[in-house]
Amino acid sequence: MIRRTLEQIGGMCKAEWNPAASAVAITGAGTDSRKITAGQLFVPLVGDKFDGHDYVAQALKDGAAAALWQRGHAIPPELADAPLLLVDDTLAALQALASVYRTELAGLRVVGITGSNGKTTTKDMVAAVLGTSLRVHKTAGNLNNHIGLPLMVLELDEQTEVAVLEMGMSGFGEIELLTQIAKPDVAIITNIGDAHMLQLGSREGIAKAKLEIVSGLQPGGLLLYNGDEPLLVAGLGTTALPAGARLEAFGLMDGNRWTAANMNIDAVSAAFELKDGGARAQVNGAVTEAAETAEAAIYAIPVPGKHNVSNALAAIAIGHHFGISGERIRQGLSSLQLTGMRIQPVKAFNGAMILNDAYNANPTAVRAAIDLLESVSGFRKKWIVLGDMLELGPDEEQLHYDTGAFITPAKADAVLTCGQLSRHTSHGVKSSFGAAADAADIIHFEEKEKLAEWLKQQLQPADIVLVKGSRGMRMEQIVQALEVG
Ligand code: ATP
Ligand code: MG
Repeated sequence: MIRRTLEQIGGMCKAEWNPAASAVAITGAGTDSRKITAGQLFVPLVGDKFDGHDYVAQALKDGAAAALWQRGHAIPPELADAPLLLVDDTLAALQALASVYRTELAGLRVVGITGSNGKTTTKDMVAAVLGTSLRVHKTAGNLNNHIGLPLMVLELDEQTEVAVLEMGMSGFGEIELLTQIAKPDVAIITNIGDAHMLQLGSREGIAKAKLEIVSGLQPGGLLLYNGDEPLLVAGLGTTALPAGARLEAFGLMDGNRWTAANMNIDAVSAAFELKDGGARAQVNGAVTEAAETAEAAIYAIPVPGKHNVSNALAAIAIGHHFGISGERIRQGLSSLQLTGMRIQPVKAFNGAMILNDAYNANPTAVRAAIDLLESVSGFRKKWIVLGDMLELGPDEEQLHYDTGAFITPAKADAVLTCGQLSRHTSHGVKSSFGAAADAADIIHFEEKEKLAEWLKQQLQPADIVLVKGSRGMRMEQIVQALEVG
């Protein structure tokens, strides 16, 4: 963060403070008292089970320059003269601070990324592409929510030319809040899946919630959206766009502005030809850009799966938007490093290979991973290990069954499941396999340990195992049990 005085910070978040502290210099912000560094503003958040105000004194001792303080909390005597900024709500003040700070960064351009799946991956890809030519700051890890995003904005400084920020959500209004803080010049919607169906009611609801990102898009800004998703195209028809907004569609289907041909996908990487769709469509009064070049170029990414080709198309589009050459974009993508547990190849017991995708799961992401497994060849036996997909709402049993039914004998030779809901996945697989079910290993386990133990006895050289499940299922424990070296 660019240095600000306590007085300036107080003005930005409409706080009250002891004038004696006005000149205190603040150079950053943090909400975790254990990680506070010298010069930071400590923001004590109030939760159901914790109250950050209990740690203000410690944070100040550890070097925090000042702290927010929520009115209504009694100020202990030892903090009577401390550099505190009194506000009605510390979280709202953090958000207001970030929002005003963003407007003060005049030359900075912001890329905001939302979608049901692929946000972090796309964020990493966009940052890799832009990082070849510009000074980029990207969301650390997955800090994409109403607390993480303001903190990421406050990390930006005059060195930053482009900020690449991930925006997550679990209900209506959340992306709206984030986009109004971040005020993106470019917004990306990676896809629409079925995550958070419980809160949003339907896939239409999910599309609508993602499209909230447009409400913070700057005039003349660019919206890149997944054109393979009819609900997004339909939703755009009723979404108010900022003045001069441009729309560009990317995706794997023909007709998108940015699309791919001749995909070549193996277990650890993908290559494709960038195809200029040249599509010009009229959506809600804005013209979807036509192709500028007829350049046919091959791109390679060190991550597998068609869904990652789609994510890469968004990153390529952004690269072009920022005037980066095709050569540099290619370089950026090929040197990409992703955050862990997103389809990571892992050496397993007895010469087998695991594709560790245990980071998270929902029906769309599981189908994407299964498609990937189908597209790789040269393996003796393809195993799928699935844990429960959580937070899917009232249709959760059906969604598990359908996910199982999506797996055909062409896609996998064996499907092992684990968890309360995954019993339904297993039934779905059996129905899909029909007569072939008896010869295949379609087995449901009550415990991960049992599953791992059993699978360990079966693994042979040249076997491949896809492991996936919701975060709460901790499916990586199975990977750890089978991993070697
Ligand atoms: P989170 O909401 O947890 O932050 P995210 O949107 O950041 O998730 P990633 O972490 O990039 O998503 O990817 C998570 C998983 O989603 C990947 O391992 C992959 O299985 C799947 N995935 C990634 N991109 C796509 C996509 N474009 N379409 C469908 N599934 C995808
Ligand atoms: Mg993420």
